[in-house]
Amino acid sequence: MRCSACSRLAVVDQPYRGSHLCGEHLTRSVEERFRRALHRQLPRFSRGTVAVALSGGKDSAVALRLTHRYLASRPGVRLVAISVDEGIEGYRSRTLTAATQLTRALGVEHRVVRVREAYGTTTDAAAARLPTTPPCSYCGVWRRSLLNETARSVPADALVLGFNLDDLAQTVLMNFARGDLGRIARMAPHRAQQEGMVPRVAPLADVPEREVYLYARLTGVPFDHAECPYAGRAARNRFREVVWQLEESMPGTRQALLRAQGEIAALIGVPTDGPARCPVCGAPSAGGPCRGCTFRRMVEPAVGTA
Ligand code: SF4
Repeated sequence: MRCSACSRLAVVDQPYRGSHLCGEHLTRSVEERFRRALHRQLPRFSRGTVAVALSGGKDSAVALRLTHRYLASRPGVRLVAISVDEGIEGYRSRTLTAATQLTRALGVEHRVVRVREAYGTTTDAAAARLPTTPPCSYCGVWRRSLLNETARSVPADALVLGFNLDDLAQTVLMNFARGDLGRIARMAPHRAQQEGMVPRVAPLADVPEREVYLYARLTGVPFDHAECPYAGRAARNRFREVVWQLEESMPGTRQALLRAQGEIAALIGVPTDGPARCPVCGAPSAGGPCRGCTFRRMVEPAVGTA
């Protein structure tokens, strides 16, 4: 297999584009797709603060590296990386080490916030307390809430997430399967400011997961390969498999799902007037306690022993 842009051996095939790319052209292509998406989602951003969610895995590490490349040289722009430690033994400490290595290499300010300090428990403690509840359901809620609250406290004008094309296509399909069009409309990248929310952008939205991985390997971005011990229980796994099968038989399915999401968001619109506030922690909520506080209450007896 030869590169479609030169005669070198290809390292990746792109059936959705009908092309193959060598390492050099893949690197350039990933950077170009990231740069265009970043400027589309954050137009004319020349002054302000951008937070980057950094887990230490490949996607967020590439997102930070490229956000730094395209924004850090602007004199009025400040970058802050935010990592959330959910309290998962043997897993998060490894990825946080990689995250720290990258932020030090780039000279980027790095804030680490802990679920234990915010909610008085950890994902490990909650998993022991709620054995039949998939841990991702509360862990993901806590992480998103802490990322938003920390980005607000920076204060940041935007929050960069490392979601790649596969992640986003899976999320669209999951929300379709749940019949939750409102959540499809609210997905990152945000098209409108929502009260209480730092606008989330996803500049890797046009890059498949495999290409993000190859980019990180080809360019030496430090990241950790560790897999969360609870990942096998995530509902997302079924959708990952379905999206992968659809993409295999119908290349371009992932992009089509994202186009559908964009059209739905444009049709529905996103309410920009303030959502209700959680009476417990003050975070945005659909009414009553937010999901983070609801899960916290479910594991309350574990609080203090976490
Ligand atoms: Fe949390 Fe699930 Fe991610 Fe593990 S896979 S860190 S439990 S959201």
